[in-house]
Amino acid sequence: MSSVPQLPLKPEGTIPQLGFGTWQIQGDACQNAVRTALEVGYRHIDTADAYGNHEDVGEALTTSGVPRDRIFLTTKVFRDNLRHDSLIGVCERSLKELQTDYLDLFLVHWPNNDVPMEETFSAMGELIANGKIRHCGVSNFTAKRLEKALKLDLAPISNNQVEYHPLLNQKRLFKICQKKGVTVTAYSPLAQGKVGENATVQAVAGRVGKSPAQVALRWLLQRGLIAIPKASSRAHIESNWEVLDFALPPGEYEAMDTINEWQRLIAWDVAEFDD
Ligand code: NAP
Repeated sequence: MSSVPQLPLKPEGTIPQLGFGTWQIQGDACQNAVRTALEVGYRHIDTADAYGNHEDVGEALTTSGVPRDRIFLTTKVFRDNLRHDSLIGVCERSLKELQTDYLDLFLVHWPNNDVPMEETFSAMGELIANGKIRHCGVSNFTAKRLEKALKLDLAPISNNQVEYHPLLNQKRLFKICQKKGVTVTAYSPLAQGKVGENATVQAVAGRVGKSPAQVALRWLLQRGLIAIPKASSRAHIESNWEVLDFALPPGEYEAMDTINEWQRLIAWDVAEFDD
């Protein structure tokens, strides 16, 4: 079985660079997909309170036969629950739903200007101190907001999960996160299936003999990000895992890295973005 590269996660620990996304799958479809992913070798599962599939993910994890301590489990608290007591309550409920007694990573799922960040990150600090979560992080934070949160120094923010794929290469944000020791998880790493429509991605895929989805994921790993593709079918789940078995040569990496597009897929009225 291919072994997945890990990135260091502050204050200590590591995160597998390739994970499995679970947005927009629930019920049996979710349980089957997560179970298949674990069979194939994935050990990093990404969910969120807002996805409404905690019970399904929990069921798949506990019946998979894979020991809990071999799995890296991320979930997120949505932006309307960032007050101290709400955040703690969501964490406790999430643990029950996911049938576990700790989370590897707990993310703030979109910022909220109505809640002081001090309140949110003190609650995160408490959860770390009492062992309910191993790491905390954020999602959809701009560089400016992330820097403000880091300055509070109330909990070690170790990850920023943002939309990142070859059609939205957020180099500036990534560089700032790297400088601050914050890992970056690329969500929608396949641009929700649209990577295959890009001519450069198609050309690179053709030259290296892989699929557009595979070269997109491989490029993200070589760039130093964590990628969490979602897939429903075993064929997609396996094919995405196979990116651990090849590397893009420098010229092909460069071709992917210089795609000049800025196609953002996930945006809504409360969102704020870099660039
Ligand atoms: P994605 O992973 O970029 O794309 C998923 C789509 O690509 C599905 O339609 C899937 O089809 C298809 N696909 C998967 N593997 C493929 C392959 N090898 N070849 C061709 N098509 C393939 O999109 P996403 O679900 O938006 O993002 C991934 C994860 O990121 C989410 O599931 C979630 O965990 C996370 N996320 C987080 C946020 C946030 O705000 N923090 C926002 C969005 C997403 P099938 O399902 O038919 O296999």
